Amino acid sequence: MRKKIVAGNWKCNTTVPAGVELAKAVVAAVNASGDPEVEVVVCPPFVHLTSVAAEVTGSRVRTGAQNCAAEPKGAFTGEVSAEMVKSAGAEYVILGHSERREYYGETSATLNKKLAQAFAQGLTPVYCCGEPLPVREAGSQNEFVKKQLDETIFLLPEADFRKLVIAYEPIWAIGTGKTASAAQAQEMHSFIRGAIADKYGRKVADEISILYGGSCKSSNAKELFANPDVDGGLIGGASLDPANFLGIVNGFKG
Ligand code: PEP
Repeated sequence: MRKKIVAGNWKCNTTVPAGVELAKAVVAAVNASGDPEVEVVVCPPFVHLTSVAAEVTGSRVRTGAQNCAAEPKGAFTGEVSAEMVKSAGAEYVILGHSERREYYGETSATLNKKLAQAFAQGLTPVYCCGEPLPVREAGSQNEFVKKQLDETIFLLPEADFRKLVIAYEPIWAIGTGKTASAAQAQEMHSFIRGAIADKYGRKVADEISILYGGSCKSSNAKELFANPDVDGGLIGGASLDPANFLGIVNGFKG
């Protein structure tokens, strides 16, 4: 059975003390009434990781980083390695977020190096893919996403591939308030799962969690998560509000 996961991507928000308070509120909310079948992950900025990981220790909430370096260590000023992230308490790492690709020029080649670093440290990558609006409008989203997969995670040996989580995040839905419809999400998730089955076999495809990301909130999570191929969400804005985030965590409940 594949895992249901709801992961909060805090992006470049909150100070360290505010982040610790947010983590405390998420733990309290999840402990009180979070769906026990859902793995809950918070991904704060790097400098919060140690404090947030300490705050969530002993709870059901896990910690992830939003990125890691492509190199293991050395003269790379400003970079944070996968080993550092791991030593700070993270279990997950988001890789290939569209904001990293767009604003920081992350290519498939860079991502392949980052994936290797993440696996070497035993981190679970949350690999993001998704098309921009013009591609969606041209109806070429499947080809676009397939190319992203072909150039990165489809190059992985099966043993590594099985360990990752995929997040489909249509760029036109990220932070825009414009969510993909439940049907659009299911269509793409099913396409991705089919591509995985073609590449690694049906059993592997059935075990990989594919999350949806893009303006997901408590008011639309139920509809999105009701789809057979949507295994949870990668949540930006709504993850900064514990009540909204809890509503998403509970989006699988009937
Ligand atoms: C994201 O950036 O991963 C994301 C899904 O953002 P938002 O929920 O704010 O659209």
